[in-house]
Amino acid sequence: MDDQRKPALSVRTLAAQALGVHEPTSMGLVPPIHMSATYIRDSDNGYRSGHVYGRTDNPSVQHAEDVISALEGADETLLFGSGMAAATTIFLSLDKPTHIIASKVIYWGLRSWLKDIGRYGHSVTFVDTCDIQAIRNAVRSNTGLFWIETPSNPLWSITDIEAVADIAHAAEAVLCVDSTVSTPVLTRPLPLGADLVIHSATKYLNGHSDVIAGSVSTIERGKFWARICKLRSDQGTTLGSFEAWLLTRGMRTLDLRVRAQSRTAAYLAERLVGHPAVAEVLYPGLQDHPGHQLASRQMTNGYGGMLSIRLQRGEQAAIATAAAVRLWKRATSLGGVESLIEHRASIEGEGTPCPIDLLRLSVGLEDRDDLHRDLVTALGAAR
Ligand SMILES: *Cc1c(COP(=O)(O)O)cnc(C)c1O
Repeated sequence: MDDQRKPALSVRTLAAQALGVHEPTSMGLVPPIHMSATYIRDSDNGYRSGHVYGRTDNPSVQHAEDVISALEGADETLLFGSGMAAATTIFLSLDKPTHIIASKVIYWGLRSWLKDIGRYGHSVTFVDTCDIQAIRNAVRSNTGLFWIETPSNPLWSITDIEAVADIAHAAEAVLCVDSTVSTPVLTRPLPLGADLVIHSATKYLNGHSDVIAGSVSTIERGKFWARICKLRSDQGTTLGSFEAWLLTRGMRTLDLRVRAQSRTAAYLAERLVGHPAVAEVLYPGLQDHPGHQLASRQMTNGYGGMLSIRLQRGEQAAIATAAAVRLWKRATSLGGVESLIEHRASIEGEGTPCPIDLLRLSVGLEDRDDLHRDLVTALGAAR
């Protein structure tokens, strides 16, 4: 397993073979689901297997973690029961009052949680991380953690990972990138200088809308990482073994899915530009998107499967369009095989930076012209 982790095998190969591990007793090609909550001790009281108790680790979970480490170029990965559990564990592992710099536009659930970080003794400044000077200006003597998401929900703005890593490291701080939307198929933040990368594995990594999971991967196992590991074990927020097994299975097709979803998203974005009902198409693959040049440098194999549209006739037209689709599914979440459409502002509620006339589109694996026809019909019906 180890010899596969370091050499330059592509993300596609690593994911397809899930590290090529088979089950050594039966020689099964596919690993089993380990259900045991506890492990037998050796007669000398030791644990030669390395496993003690299921709240701390489980072989099925470790296998999925090893696949993600290989894909991200990470030293180690931990899986959690959700993306939010993964993210909040990082903040709760800060050991002294810390100032955090976070992107203004990030996953809504995390932004709301971070607003109350004061109760844990920390403070947060939200900045437009597309503006490198604004990030520099926000640094304080106790800034210890930078948090960015690129492309970011739901405007798909792009942040320069290398530039933020330089600022973070000059401040002796940690940079964590939420790479849920990019996936390692499009961007690998750790080789670009990030210290931690997180995923809502609920989304593209699993890819089938049937698991809630989150991951944190690290470039190195230092003191901060040890606190993250301990907190997961103390709180028991570890992912379940069945979910981990499904996740490993889902990741086998990650590369194919993300490339296909990116191609279809680019096709839809281009075709929706200039549609009379559409005021603006937000997609980093479009030439006039403000992050396009940076995205072309930072992303490989495509610009992602997520796009948003803003409607000429405002909020009511957006809601009416979402009501009129037949093929697209009206649901929150993203990154699955089925295309989803969502009026984002109404789920985010009061104080959201999301425009009220915006529809968020998560492009699945359906035929691109079927998707286009359904959306255009709905746009027409809503005018
Ligand atoms: C969904 C999401 C999360 C939260 O993940 P859960 O698995 O729903 O807890 C975090 N970041 C991004 C970018 C997401 O899309």
